[in-house]
Amino acid sequence: MEKEAKFDGTASADIFSLLVETSWKEKRKRREELLAPLGVKEFFVDGKITIDRLTCKGVECRLCIEACPTKALYWKSSGEVGIVEEVCIYCGACVLRCIVDNCIKVARRRENGEVERFSTSRAFTVLEHGINARKRFDRVRAIFPSAADYLKLYKPSMV
Ligand code: SF4
Ligand code: SF4
Repeated sequence: MEKEAKFDGTASADIFSLLVETSWKEKRKRREELLAPLGVKEFFVDGKITIDRLTCKGVECRLCIEACPTKALYWKSSGEVGIVEEVCIYCGACVLRCIVDNCIKVARRRENGEVERFSTSRAFTVLEHGINARKRFDRVRAIFPSAADYLKLYKPSMV
C-alpha cells in the first residue's frame, strides 16, 4: 500500500534535513580533497571565519596572509584580504598574528559539539592554554586513575 503523504510539514522538514546533510557531506569531501595534498589534518567539523574590512590594515599589514598554513587567505586585486573558506581549517594562526583586535573572527565546532569563538590574540592564547592543560590532565588521569594509583609508584619516603 502506498504511504500517505504528510501535509503537516514533517515530510518537507525531512527532505530539508536530507539536503542539508548531503551538502554538508559534499562540502567535507571537497575539503578533504583540497587539504590532502597539503598534508594538513582537520580538528574541527565545521566553522566560520570573517574579516572586518573596515578595521583591517590591509596592504600595510598582510600578516594574516603570511601566517595561514593552508593559504586560505590571499590579497585581492580590489585591495582587501580574501578568504577561501574551503581550505580554512580554523586553526587561529591568522587571529594570533592580526594586529587589530576583533578584525578576524573565528568560530569552530569540535566533534563533541563544543563551539569555540575567538577574535583576539589574547582570547586565542587563553583558549589554547586551556586546551593544553586539559590534554595534560587527561594524560595524567589515564596513567593514574586515582590518587592511590599515583601513591603506589611515588609514595613519599618517611625518612
Ligand atoms: S584560521 Fe587558520 S587556516 Fe583559517 S584563514 Fe586563519 S590561519 Fe588560515
Ligand atoms: S593581520 Fe589583521 S589587520 Fe593585518 S591584513 Fe590581516 S586582517 Fe588585516
